[in-house]
Amino acid sequence: MREERSFICVSCPLGCGLNVIIEDGEVTYVSGNSCPRGAAYAKTEVKDPRRVFASTVRVTGGKLPVCPIRSKTPAPKGKLSEIAKAVAALNVKAPIKIGQVLIHNVCGTDVDIVASRDLN
Ligand code: SF4
Repeated sequence: MREERSFICVSCPLGCGLNVIIEDGEVTYVSGNSCPRGAAYAKTEVKDPRRVFASTVRVTGGKLPVCPIRSKTPAPKGKLSEIAKAVAALNVKAPIKIGQVLIHNVCGTDVDIVASRDLN
């Protein structure tokens, strides 16, 4: 089966428009990319789409009631709502250090949720 899809490459701020041909589930042709990262992005987007997850967690005993967090690496797109629920259920005690792992292997994805700032 042959399919054509269009993506915006989000690997850098240039945001190239990619036109992708997929045959039997495999990317066979990519155009519109200004560098090889665009082709790699298209292949990942077809086979295993991922996004960086960013949100906040509730904090106990800190100078602020919440702390911004993000996934250390991009997480599977299909797991983002499950990850959001896991993060919403979390309550972390201050102090928190930037980069501190708050959830290891969130939802079995091999992705860690880390703090995006220090919070005393
Ligand atoms: S294809 Fe290359 S230049 Fe274009 S947005 Fe992606 S990373 Fe940037």
